[in-house]
Amino acid sequence: MTAKPEPVLAAGAALGESPIWDDRTNTLLWVDIHRRQVHRFDPASGRNRTVTLDQPVGSVALRQGPGLIAAVGLSLGALDEEAGEFAPWHTVPEGERFNDGACDPAGRYLAGTLTDSPGGAALYSLEPSKALRRLLADVTLSNGLAWSPDEQTLYYIDTVLERIDAFDYETNTGSLGARRTVVDLRNSPGRPDGLTTDTDGNLWVAMAKGAAIRCYDPSGLLLDLITLPVPVVTSCTFGGPDLSDLYITTGQWPATQDQLASYPDAGAVFRLRGTGSKGRPVYRFAG
Ligand code: ZN
Repeated sequence: MTAKPEPVLAAGAALGESPIWDDRTNTLLWVDIHRRQVHRFDPASGRNRTVTLDQPVGSVALRQGPGLIAAVGLSLGALDEEAGEFAPWHTVPEGERFNDGACDPAGRYLAGTLTDSPGGAALYSLEPSKALRRLLADVTLSNGLAWSPDEQTLYYIDTVLERIDAFDYETNTGSLGARRTVVDLRNSPGRPDGLTTDTDGNLWVAMAKGAAIRCYDPSGLLLDLITLPVPVVTSCTFGGPDLSDLYITTGQWPATQDQLASYPDAGAVFRLRGTGSKGRPVYRFAG
């Protein structure tokens, strides 16, 4: 690929994450976990609206109705974006805080936690009924979640394992089936963080401290390597009016002041045009 990612929002995010394209308003939602902020960026006007919460926000999701779902601290609940008010529905016992999350094809919200103690975190699923269940135990740093276009596979990253795994996924019940490894990233620079899928079923994975997005086909074959001018590349999603632009979040953390001088674009939101690929509209929470 000859195109390269360009910074479109000089956000200086401490830890930008959870980019989600809102296809109803043509805006990009994203969070800065460490600054406890939810952002909504309008690429057409360049405007970025910010809401600051009182705890770290790991991820947000769109709803079929108004408002957002969010994972804040160790709680899942509803976020009123206009008022900046978070109403927790559930608080979980496992992990130190919530991290990445995404809605499944049936409108559930899946989100996982992270912890310093190996295996002490978990992946949870919030049903549209608001019921919560623990989908997966023995997790350490729950991160990217994405589905195959046929909706029968959930791709999942526990960052400390340094690989992309796939689960058979039962959309009717929201249950996980057999687990397998699709991409082993132990010998690639950095560690896998967020990921997204395109309409061909290829996987686009952000490499934190690896300064890159790597693109794989569903068999695990490397198709493309996109480098960025910043080390901490956290997540990506397709956006733009025809869902053909790849939006990429990054972070400054844990760079020192000296390092930041070398990476002036750290924490920016980047956009890559001309990928030749397209995403699908993001699933929305059905409750
Ligand atoms: Zn992440």
